[in-house]
Amino acid sequence: MKNRLRILFLASEVSPFAKTGGLADVTSSLPKALYEMGHDVRIIMPKYGSISERRYILREVIRLKKIPVLMGKTEHITCAKSAFIPDSKVQVYFLDYTPYFGHNDLYVDSKTGKDYPDNAERFMLLCRAILATTKLLHWQPQVIHCNDWQTAMIPWLLKHEFADDTFFANTSTLLSVHNLAYQGSFEKSVLPHLGISNAHETPDLEIYGRVNFLKAGLMTADAISTVSPTYASEIQNDDELSAGLKDVLVQRKDDIYGILNGVDYSVWSPENDAFVSPYNADNLDDKLANKKALTQKAKLPFDEMTPLIGIVSRLVDQKGFDLIAEVIEKIVSLKAQLVVLGTGDKKYHKLFDKAAKSYPDNIAVFLKFDEELAHLIEAGSDMFLMPSRFEPCGLNQMYSLRYGTVPIVRKTGGLADTVIDFVQEPDKGNGFVFEEYHSNAMLNALQNAVKAFHDRKNWSKIQRRGMKVDFSWHNSAESYVKLYQKLDVKKRK
Ligand code: ADP
Repeated sequence: MKNRLRILFLASEVSPFAKTGGLADVTSSLPKALYEMGHDVRIIMPKYGSISERRYILREVIRLKKIPVLMGKTEHITCAKSAFIPDSKVQVYFLDYTPYFGHNDLYVDSKTGKDYPDNAERFMLLCRAILATTKLLHWQPQVIHCNDWQTAMIPWLLKHEFADDTFFANTSTLLSVHNLAYQGSFEKSVLPHLGISNAHETPDLEIYGRVNFLKAGLMTADAISTVSPTYASEIQNDDELSAGLKDVLVQRKDDIYGILNGVDYSVWSPENDAFVSPYNADNLDDKLANKKALTQKAKLPFDEMTPLIGIVSRLVDQKGFDLIAEVIEKIVSLKAQLVVLGTGDKKYHKLFDKAAKSYPDNIAVFLKFDEELAHLIEAGSDMFLMPSRFEPCGLNQMYSLRYGTVPIVRKTGGLADTVIDFVQEPDKGNGFVFEEYHSNAMLNALQNAVKAFHDRKNWSKIQRRGMKVDFSWHNSAESYVKLYQKLDVKKRK
């Protein structure tokens, strides 16, 4: 293929091997789309204890059996194994170092509920090991695509420690920010443990008296992208959403791109979803079997005419659960049912636990991570609620559209870019959108949705309209390729 690019894709989670949120969906489906377009794309991620070598058929790679990584005075002997993303030919290298990645959890120790105390060392080692691995493979990437703070030290390392290394002389870097609120911020005392002793190297890395991996990447990557056009603009203009990094982003404004995430419809489509009873836009009545199955699983009474609202989410402040807490009784009094699947902050576990106990016929809660149930909730609910305070892209509203499960969302980030309000635009609307971050505004949108739900003919029109929208990866992957090519040309000049 002409213009075939060598792309090294880096992430701390990739579905189905390891997933805590939407990042893993993107880091699996974007490389698959790039591969299908003919590019040479390879992924490197950590080998967490929870990743089964047998299930995913991890194989040893002779030249990667011993990868020495120096951090300060300590030499760590790591290794890497390889496998493919299931049902694809995308190669994944798993960086194996048990002292740092042997745990089952990714970032937060579920035993303590706190971040692992050595997260700075863990992900700095990952970045150093990635560059060592690439050299051992004798495979020179034209672009290294980093994702979030965990791999954001790569451009920094290339600028500061590998500046004279001819191996990477023609390598450009792109840093994708999936959520600016997570930055990898650590006390300065970690520096010697990261192998950083040179004072002139640190200004790119420090902010507010702390070491900040994301800032380091934002300062040194050749380009920066984020996962929706609206979020790209919000983080540069909104003091709260810029999460303390506004000055850095303003400095880099000419190099920031907003590219909307896509959906992997081979995983998220009601016609071919292994976890649900199949249906499609011409066969919407068959969706009802999923509503029955979901209410049964949730131990809620089944009634076709009671709107069932689904939520699948990390239970964190970002997602707007304080709005739900304020009006939970009023939601119930709309004669609606709510099924929640999620894990996260203990306060939200308590909130939903209590709500489920108070309203056993209306509210059911599953406080766990369950991929299969996430699919059933998409298929079995009538509506899907995402009242996020901010949302870099959001995937579930796009999944919901495809499942004929009408999204009710706040107008922010990727939610604003993907859902059209039925009240304001009855001829185009595919969901319900509210703007003000206030429980009354959310309740008003819910009331509108419930009213529309009871107008059955109109409702199926809204459902079908959503099911037709195409967010497949192809368009987004093409935007990434254009950006990679632009960086590659610039580097070679
Ligand atoms: P974020 O990346 O902020 O978590 P997104 O909407 O971009 O939000 O992506 C969330 C992804 O994680 C979706 O694929 C969603 O189905 C999945 N998810 C979140 N929580 C759970 C859970 N408890 N069980 C199963 N899947 C979950």
